[in-house]
Amino acid sequence: LEVVNRIAAGEIIQRPCNALKEMIENSLDAKSSLIQISVKAGGLKLLQIQDNGTGIRKDDLPIVAERFTTSKLEKFEDLNGISTFGFRGEALASISHVAHLTIQTKTRSEKCAYKASYEDGKFKSAPKPCAGNQGTTITVEDLFYNMPQRKQALKSPAEEFTKVSEVVSKYAIHNPQVGFTLKKVGESGFALKTPVKSSHNDNIKIIYGSQIAKDLLPMELEDPVHRFKIKGFITNLNYQSKGRTNLLFINHRLVESMLLKAAIDSVYGTFLPRGAYPFYYLSLELDPLTVDVNVHPTKHEVHFLYEEDIVEKIKMQVESTLLASNV
Ligand code: ADP
Ligand code: MG
Repeated sequence: LEVVNRIAAGEIIQRPCNALKEMIENSLDAKSSLIQISVKAGGLKLLQIQDNGTGIRKDDLPIVAERFTTSKLEKFEDLNGISTFGFRGEALASISHVAHLTIQTKTRSEKCAYKASYEDGKFKSAPKPCAGNQGTTITVEDLFYNMPQRKQALKSPAEEFTKVSEVVSKYAIHNPQVGFTLKKVGESGFALKTPVKSSHNDNIKIIYGSQIAKDLLPMELEDPVHRFKIKGFITNLNYQSKGRTNLLFINHRLVESMLLKAAIDSVYGTFLPRGAYPFYYLSLELDPLTVDVNVHPTKHEVHFLYEEDIVEKIKMQVESTLLASNV
C-alpha cells in the first residue's frame, strides 16, 4: 500500500516547484502577509516556507498530512469549486510520502508553537511544544529520498531553482499585498524579494526589470453575459522578448489554458516578428462552479464552461488594447 501511495504522491509532486506551489497556496489561504522561502539544491535537499498566517491548531496536527483531509470544504458545493482546485487535502499528504516533512506552527490562541514531523501521512514524531511566532513553517527535506529513479532524473539543482523562482515570482506578482522572499541557504541576500504592500506592476518591475514598465498596458474586461472578469497587464508592441513569459491565474490559482494562450499568441503573432514574444499577466475570475476540476493533478491545464466564447472575448480585448495603445 505504501508503494501505491508513493506512486500516487509522485504523480502530484513531480519536482520541487510543484510542492512549493501547493505550500504557497496554503500560506495564502491562511491569510499570510509575509511568505519567506529558503531552498538548498533547488529545493531537492531543502524547501522551506515560513508564513505569518493563521497557523494550524494543535488538535489538527494529527490529520493535516492525511490524504483527503482538508479544513477547506465547508459546503458540499465546494466540492465542485475551483477554490480547492482538485487538490482536496492531497498536497501535504503527498509531500509526506515522497520527502521528510516537518511542520512548526502556532495559532493566535495557543501559548506556544508546536513542531511535528511526518512520514507517509502519519506522525513520525508527535507534536512537541517549542518557541515560535504565529504562523507556519513547513520544511520539506530530501525530496524523493525513497524514489531513487525520480531523484536521478532531477539532476540539475539549477534548473529546479529556476522553476522554483518562477513560481515564487508569479505568486508575488499576483499577490502584491503579500511580501515574498526567496533565498538560497548559505548565500547572503535574497534571490527575490517583494515588499509587503506593493502593486501588481511594481512587482512586475521588481521581478522582470524596470525596462518592462514603459511597455506595460493595463487590460480589464467584465462580461455580464458569460459572467467573467479579467484584469491584468499586457505588453505593447514595442516590447519584444525572446522568451515567453505569461502568467495566468484563474480564481487566484496559477494555471495553464492552452486555448487562451494560443488565442493571445495569435493576436501578437499578427504584429510581432517571428520569435518575438510578449509578456502578460492576467487574472481571470469565473463562477467556481463552471470550472472543471477533474483534470489530472500534474497538468495545470484547466477547462471551463463557455471556454471558447470567453477566450474569444479576451482575445478581442487584447487586440483592442494593443490597437488603442498606438505604438
Ligand atoms: P488543502 O489545502 O486542500 O486543504 P493541504 O494538504 O494543502 O490540503 O493542506 C491540508 C491542511 O493543512 C489545510 O486544509 C490547512 O488546514 C492546513 N495547512 C496547510 N498549510 C497551512 C498553512 N501554511 N497555514 C495554515 N494551515 C495550513
Ligand atoms: Mg492546499
